[in-house]
Amino acid sequence: MASKYYLTTAIDYSNGEPHLGHAYEKIGADCVARYRRLRGQDVSFSIGMDEHGQKVAQSAEAARADPRAWVDGIAAQFQAAWTELAISHTAFIRTTEARHHRAVAELFRRIQRAGYISEGLYKGYYCVGCEGFKAEKDLEQGRCPVHPTREIKWVEEPNFFFEIGRFRQRLLDLYASNPDFVQPRAKLNEVTNVVAGWTEDQTISVSRARVPWGIPWPDDPTHTVYVWFEALINYLSATGFPEEGYEALWPADTHVIGPDIVRFHAAMWPAMLMAAGVEVPRQVWCHGWINWSGARFSKSAGVAVTLRDIIDRHGPDPLRYFVLREVPWNADGNFSWERFDVRYTADLADGYGNLVSRVLAMVRRYTGGTVPPDGAETPLDRAGDDLIAGYRAAMDGHMLHEGADLAWKLVDRANGFVEERAPWQLAKEGRADQLAETLAALARAIARVSLLACPYMPRRTHAVWSALGLPGEITRQTWEALERPPTGGASVRALAPLFPKEPKTG
Ligand SMILES: [Zn+2]
Repeated sequence: MASKYYLTTAIDYSNGEPHLGHAYEKIGADCVARYRRLRGQDVSFSIGMDEHGQKVAQSAEAARADPRAWVDGIAAQFQAAWTELAISHTAFIRTTEARHHRAVAELFRRIQRAGYISEGLYKGYYCVGCEGFKAEKDLEQGRCPVHPTREIKWVEEPNFFFEIGRFRQRLLDLYASNPDFVQPRAKLNEVTNVVAGWTEDQTISVSRARVPWGIPWPDDPTHTVYVWFEALINYLSATGFPEEGYEALWPADTHVIGPDIVRFHAAMWPAMLMAAGVEVPRQVWCHGWINWSGARFSKSAGVAVTLRDIIDRHGPDPLRYFVLREVPWNADGNFSWERFDVRYTADLADGYGNLVSRVLAMVRRYTGGTVPPDGAETPLDRAGDDLIAGYRAAMDGHMLHEGADLAWKLVDRANGFVEERAPWQLAKEGRADQLAETLAALARAIARVSLLACPYMPRRTHAVWSALGLPGEITRQTWEALERPPTGGASVRALAPLFPKEPKTG
């Protein structure tokens, strides 16, 4: 594995409170970041806020707030949510920051200098909800189908245009030569079809007149850069571009995004970078939607359940585990209270939590609180070896739901091993050697599960790690002991119930 890994999520639109859809994307990317750090990669992980555009200005106005104060307030809410959910980002980029303005101005200057910008008159329908132009054929009864309550406007204005059609062939070559550029494959096919349908003289408008809440167009302050194009550049701004040294991070290794913005990330963004002579990202990963009663979590869908309610149900770590286990990281899935409660009880309280509490109790009762010396290899160790091989393959390919599934197979296997070996029976019969071997194998299995589960539940796995009497925290060094964690001789400590049946936060 290469040592540097630069991972990003889409930046969130400053238009309301964070909801589960926002959280899901951060949690998944954070799991990738934490796993890769354990594997020894130097991970930079950038998230942030998309703070410009007409819709933000209108929301601020509706709230009788200055746009700057409005976006500050929203950014603070998002950051508080990410702290609570233990998101381990290394950069939080806001598009109103000077470092972003500088990167945007420089990138467009380079595109302009290379001769890919022309001036012209834009005429068309504009949906403020989408912040996008619409063709007549896109409208339903004269309205945007996504925003049927908004008045659609006919706009005529001078704009700057990006000659994107000139990159048609280079983009098609990129997709053909690197079929992993967009994942999952169906999304690559979607983008390939869109780009194949372009003409060589196709242009797209990349500036706005009369939209003051934005980044001024380089050398023409009567225009601002169209918010969609400006927002994409955040991935570069977060590296320090155009300052020297940004190439230490760039190109991005993975852009994690929702499936609705794949064209922006997999077609327009690489075309902009090609025009400016900057390397294109290595991969665009589209996760699916997390749905609530069949509708996706979003502000406009009017979902009545808040992120606060969802976190409070069982706490941040169980939420992280649940969404990554329940919703495939490459497809759509559902959130429901019922499923959340079922998995909390079965996988966490009765699964991992019960395994940990009974093994710690037996070590205290039968071997005086000290894990017996690392004994012979048992069938439980060998079952773990097989599962771990599958786990690595799944996680290297970003299949987070499969990684969680395999880690929990080891939990089930270990709980089964307790029943098979019946340590209480061994103690009663005075078979000290077998008892010691059994408890040592179980302690190793708990250490292994905690390593595998750490990217999903960083706080609770650390609590288990220290209750097992293992020194320090779970790090890259401890991960290297995954094959046979040296638990023998450790002094276990008491641990409050990890997953109490009565809902509790923490
Ligand atoms: Zn719309």
